[in-house]
Amino acid sequence: MTPVSTVPPQFSREAGSSTRSPVDNILIFDTTLRDGEQSPGASMNLTEKVEVARTLEGLGVDIIEAGFPIASPDDFAAVQSIARETSRSRICGLARSVRGDIERCADAVRPAGARARIHVFLATSAIHRQFKLNKAKEEIVRMARTAVEHARSLIDDVEFSCEDASRTEPDFLSEVVEAVIAAGASTVNIPDTLGYAYPEDYAALIRHLKQRVRGIDQVVISVHCHNDLGLAVANSLAAIRAGARQVECTINGIGERAGNCAMEEVVMAMRVRRDQFPGAAGPLWTGIDSTKLFGASRLVQSITGLPLQRNKAIVGDNAFAHESGIHQDGVIKNPECYEIMTPASVGVPATNLVLGKHSGRAALAKRFTDLGVAVADTDLDRVFAAFKTLADRKKEIYDGDLIALVEEVVRGHTISEWRLDHLHHSATAGEGTSPKLATATVRLIRDGEARTDAATGDGPVEAVVLAMNRICGISGTVEDYRLRAVTKGGDAQGEVAIRARFTRVDPSQPAIVVGGKGLSTDIVHASALAWLDAINRAAVYQARTLASHQAQAAALIP
Ligand code: MN
Repeated sequence: MTPVSTVPPQFSREAGSSTRSPVDNILIFDTTLRDGEQSPGASMNLTEKVEVARTLEGLGVDIIEAGFPIASPDDFAAVQSIARETSRSRICGLARSVRGDIERCADAVRPAGARARIHVFLATSAIHRQFKLNKAKEEIVRMARTAVEHARSLIDDVEFSCEDASRTEPDFLSEVVEAVIAAGASTVNIPDTLGYAYPEDYAALIRHLKQRVRGIDQVVISVHCHNDLGLAVANSLAAIRAGARQVECTINGIGERAGNCAMEEVVMAMRVRRDQFPGAAGPLWTGIDSTKLFGASRLVQSITGLPLQRNKAIVGDNAFAHESGIHQDGVIKNPECYEIMTPASVGVPATNLVLGKHSGRAALAKRFTDLGVAVADTDLDRVFAAFKTLADRKKEIYDGDLIALVEEVVRGHTISEWRLDHLHHSATAGEGTSPKLATATVRLIRDGEARTDAATGDGPVEAVVLAMNRICGISGTVEDYRLRAVTKGGDAQGEVAIRARFTRVDPSQPAIVVGGKGLSTDIVHASALAWLDAINRAAVYQARTLASHQAQAAALIP
């Protein structure tokens, strides 16, 4: 059996470590790229995942769960690239408690060197043991121990998760946790996989483990909460107060079903209410630079195509908007009358003019750094060119414009099967107008070849969608359509987020549902770009499925 070191390696973070004891350190484990990516319609390509990972690292995330390497060659490649292209955060891959998964995961995280982590999981609850795994308790303990030992023989830093822990008999959970600690796990995760727990009960479960399990003080207890009852953040905080020292979370709370604990919420709840955590040494309770939360939130919204509700805590459009006169008056007299934290503390851009037509490349790069948006050097030239074009159309360029721009340029470059070359549309609006009166003419280019077609629709957006479908020879419908102004003013850029459903050539195959985004000062143009983005994403998705399964019948685009 491998001995466990007394101080888990994760605690050797340089910044501020002289004033903080490990007890006061809450490790932030981000799983936007693994659990978050499992949100329906949130799949990201390799370039996008690396972009998100860089941003997470800049935010100060301690551990980045980069993917599930055995799931597909793409997942493997993404984890491996992220392991190579980061330098500070630990890089973790997920594996089931089977040999093949663990070895594949070790290969993917290995380029991170001493920062590599394997995260092994196995279900422990009675219902999972009986119906999913068909295994007795003894067999579960044996599998968990063997898996951790195997992982430790490959990588030093091993985390073990008891899937569905919150519905597992506490005594059996203690037995499993004790076994994996003895086998060499340095982090044990106690997930509320189904978002079923209540804060008091969940905290009691953590305390139970701390009292009963031999060796528990030498490992980090982690929590991973889902939001099915809207309690993910509350449960995570209760667990921290009971002694958990790692929180698994995602940007914007994306994740399976109702999602995971939202990083921005749990981090700010700990920061604003430090008084709730007696014993905290200083303001740096987590290593997160909270002023970069808003930028990270915007990046993830844009890349996944999953927009936030306006009233989302911390990073929603209305999170700091004071509507009533009494509130506005109070805020003007003293912001603390109605604000428990400042917009600046979470990086909400001030609506000040930041850059204009005459700003240079260095000023742009500096602004991105300040905003916490990671732009690769290789992308900066194209972003700068797009910035100049935008500056010609729009006299004031705000932070929101810049964030939107970088996403547009980086994304537009990564998925570029079809490109919009020309768009003309016309529509007559108002009552008494006959239906189907809007028309659109579209020219698209792929591999240097241009194709043009036209269509009519109830409105210009429908006409554009139908014209593009004709050109690409696909059948797709708009499931959801959202338009938001990126900044203020009549010349603000409109950002269109579309959810598209494409049916396959073989109707017995499931439809592909993807998100698409477009940005323009003209909303029909933004809609066209969003629909084209969705078409291109569906094509990438299809290419992946064809490559991995050779399922020609699944063809979407002839
Ligand atoms: Mn999960």
